[in-house]
Amino acid sequence: MKCSICTSEIDVQANGYEGGHNAFPLSNGRCCTKCNDTEVIPMRMAFIASGRPMPTVAIKDVLKEQRKARALDDVSLKNITKEVNKGKKK
Ligand SMILES: [Zn+2]
Repeated sequence: MKCSICTSEIDVQANGYEGGHNAFPLSNGRCCTKCNDTEVIPMRMAFIASGRPMPTVAIKDVLKEQRKARALDDVSLKNITKEVNKGKKK
């Protein structure tokens, strides 16, 4: 199984468990021990330390949505520019 954060193969844990760790709130998938220790746990600690509620949507999905929204922005901006230029030609 691949780590949902760094995409490398998930390591086998000391107890023989091969399923990795819960990668939430970074991603909805599973992750390797390295990502769990260096990314997921510090992220959870940061939420707890700041007193913020744990997110209900994985951060990876939020970023994906934001990228999609930005892509849409680009398209509409381009279309607006095109429309404006068309108007100028007339
Ligand atoms: Zn990883």
